[in-house]
Formats: sequence, C-alpha cells, structure tokens
Amino acid sequence: MDDRLTLTVRQALQSLQNGSLSSEELTRACIEQIERLESKIHAFITLTAEKALEDARRADARRIAAHRHPDETLPSLLGLPIAVKDLLTVAGVRCTCGSRILENYVPPFTATAVQRLVDAGVVIVGKTNTDEFAMGSSTENSAYGATFNPWDTGRVPGGSSGGSAAAVAARMVPAALGTDTGGSVRQPAAFCGVTGIKPTYGRVSRYGLVAYGSSLDTAGVLAHSAEDAAILFWPMAGFDPLDATTVEQPPSVWHTPESETLKGLRIGVPKEYFLPGMQPEVEEKVRAAIRMLAELGGEVHEISLPHTEYALPVYYLIAPAEASANLARYDGVRFGYRASADTLGELFNLSRSRGFGAEVKRRIMLGTYALSAGYYEAYYGQAQKVRTLIRRDFEEAFQQVDIIATPVTPTTAFRVGEHRDDPLAMYLEDVFTLPTNLAGVPGLAFPVGFDRQGLPVGMQIMASHFREDLLFSVAYHYQQHTDWHRRLPPLL
Ligand code: GLN
Repeated sequence: MDDRLTLTVRQALQSLQNGSLSSEELTRACIEQIERLESKIHAFITLTAEKALEDARRADARRIAAHRHPDETLPSLLGLPIAVKDLLTVAGVRCTCGSRILENYVPPFTATAVQRLVDAGVVIVGKTNTDEFAMGSSTENSAYGATFNPWDTGRVPGGSSGGSAAAVAARMVPAALGTDTGGSVRQPAAFCGVTGIKPTYGRVSRYGLVAYGSSLDTAGVLAHSAEDAAILFWPMAGFDPLDATTVEQPPSVWHTPESETLKGLRIGVPKEYFLPGMQPEVEEKVRAAIRMLAELGGEVHEISLPHTEYALPVYYLIAPAEASANLARYDGVRFGYRASADTLGELFNLSRSRGFGAEVKRRIMLGTYALSAGYYEAYYGQAQKVRTLIRRDFEEAFQQVDIIATPVTPTTAFRVGEHRDDPLAMYLEDVFTLPTNLAGVPGLAFPVGFDRQGLPVGMQIMASHFREDLLFSVAYHYQQHTDWHRRLPPLL
C-alpha cells in the first residue's frame, strides 16, 4: 500500500511542513484509495474530489508563498485531507443525512465544527455515509445503501458514523468527523479498530450538525490514534455564539504528554458494564487493557454506576421524543423532497411518508407517543428524572476515580443483516455508550485487541465534564505501548 496512506496525522503534517509531501499528492493518494476500495466499502455518499484537489493546490501555494514571509504563521492543519459525516453541513455541498428527504438539499452554511477545521486548513474529500438522521448502529439504515466493515466486508462498520469509521480504517483518509448522540462515534470506532472521541456536551458547537436529539447530540473525531484525534479535536472546540449550549472551558489545547507513566491515575471499573451475555473475548481484551493501564501506574478500583440498566429505556424515550420534534421541519415545504399533491395535508403526508425510511418513522411514532398529552409525564417526564439519576451516578463516581474504563460494545462487529429485522437487538448494541450522552460526559473509544475472527475490540474510557485532555492522555500512553491501532485490515 501507498506509504502516504499510513502516515499519522502528526506525520502527515510534519511532511507537509518540511516540504517532503504536498497536500495535492496526499489528497490525490486518498482519492485513489477511495476509488480503489469504494465498491467494497461504500464509505461515502458524496465525493468532492475536484474541489478537494483545488483546495489542496491552494494550500500548497499558500505554504510556498509563506517561505517569503517567515513571520507568517500558517494554519496548523494546512493541507490535511479529511472526510466529514453527511450530518454536518458544508456550504455548497449536498447534505443528505442518509435520507431520501434531503437527497437534493444543498446547505448554504457550514457547521461551526467543520468551519473551524477549514479555517485551520483542512481539505474535505467528501461526505460519509450514515444511518438516516444518525438513527442506527450499523449504517444499514441509509437511503444510499449500507457501508461495509474493512476488516470483514460481510460485517457492519457500526453506526451511525459508519462511513467515517470505515473510511479511516480503510486508510481512505487519515481522520474523519462523526457525530455521537448515543454512541455513533465510539461504537463504529470500536467495530473498525480506530480511535474516536465523543466530547462533553457543550464543548463543540452543534451549529450545522443536523439535529437528532438536541440534548444528546455531539460532534467528534475518528482517527488512528488518540494523538491524531486530539490534533483535530482542539481546534474544533470552544464557545460558539451560534450554539447557546457551548461554553469556553480550559484547557483549550492539548500537548502530547511527556511523562511516560499514568502514576496515581484512579481507574474505575463499573461492575454493571460486564454483562453475562457479552462476547467473552470482548471482556478479556478490555480487562487486559485495564491491567496494562495499571502497569503504567494506574490504580484500579471497582465501582458501581447503579442506574446503568435504565439508560437504554431512558435514551430510547428521550432521543425519539426530541427527534420527533426536530424532524417536524421536514414537511415538503421548506426542505428537500416535496411530493406533488392536491392539498397541503396530502403534501405533508406524502412528502414525509416517501421521504423518511422505516427506522426514522419508528422513532417519530415512538417520540410523538411519548410526548402526547396524557402520556408526557409517564414517559418523557419520568425519563428525564431517571436521566438525572444516571448523571448523578457519574458525578459520584468521579469523586472517587479520574476515569472509568468499560467495553464500548457487548460484541465485535455483527454480520450485515443480522439485526435488520430486530430493532431491539440493534438498540442493545448501545448499552455501554448511551449513559455517557445522557450524563453529558466525554468518552473515548480505542482499539485494545482482536477477537478470534480478527475483528477489532474497543475499550471506552470516560471522564468528568470537560476532561477530554485526560482521555487523550490515557489513550496516548496506552498506544505508546501497544500497536493495535496501527494494524491494517487484510483487505488492504
Ligand atoms: N444507535 C443509537 C441510535 O440509534 C445512537 C445513534 C447516534 O449516536 N447517533 O439512536
């Protein structure tokens, strides 16, 4: 394989800086890799190859021009190619959200998270596949066809940011953006053997992130290592006047840690996250990784997050309730697909029933029911109360420990079609990732081994609000001593 495709973000930026590699060469290598593998993986909904090459040439010209002005500081990510989940808007590039209803929707504005990276110099090669409106855990619920896992194309890449995870795993891009409402960055990261960060709610702007569950939605990064994810993550973060839930919280930069140990780090291992039904190899690998963190200086404490079992039902009330309200805007009048009809009522009905897929309709019905008069308190109101208990579990735990370590998913990547007709089995994929979103705390997934079939196993670490720096540092140390994150899928 082309050496340029196995460069880390750090190495790629160094090569761009010292002139041994141009952005045009690197971007072209990415596009060629996409062309080579896309028929097997189908990671993208829209490719913007020409625009990417133009942007790359502009980045190269800017870098060369800067030689004449040694005082000018160039943007930190100048010329780095990335991919963006098709749920974050890029002005002038169609944004489908994996839905028919937005098949021809071209947003006139760019998501803040993306804009900040563009300002830092990135080159966007395309928009990646996603479950429709990010509702799913396998990227099979996309109106544009499923994405396949580069480690085994008979298996799903996870979801809903499955296109981004697969593109990174297949070395089509060094990094990609995803969104995470209940696990959609971390679960596909785990299934595809990459590293993914779901930030604290409020750390990264949601402006231009097409709303699913507004109190849960976050934008994150998928890359090959914690260090690479951190390099992209910090420029994205911070207060944005266009999203009132964002805050400016230090630290706003992360430095690669110098010390080689995790001395004194208190690691909590919650007993509720090791379930009898889970794949034994997942538990084995995660426990081995925890032992490794202990060898690097960490202290392991068994802890309890007693309300964990309620996270799934609470999430599957709150997320659909918020979705049913957010998706009311797709009425055939203002956005996207419009059916031809004789009356306004018929226009709404036909546009929505033809524009939305089955899972989205299921969520809208569940959510509308949970919010309806007479049921509101019993479902939505009750779920909010239990959500508070789940958040308190975390607050109490973080009085005793610095990070919490768990599996990301109960199993490794499942087969394409395996859960297609069983929504509940699909929802169960999220048991370990949903609590983080309900509590608003950050979570990071990274590879800690492989099962017997050669499929990646991921571990999740969580920290208290705004402590992404700690997550990056812990995973960085682990990755200094292991090479799981550098393995290549056999397909490559
Ligand atoms: N799988 C979960 C859902 O379907 C989470 C998705 C997400 O994080 N966007 O809601």
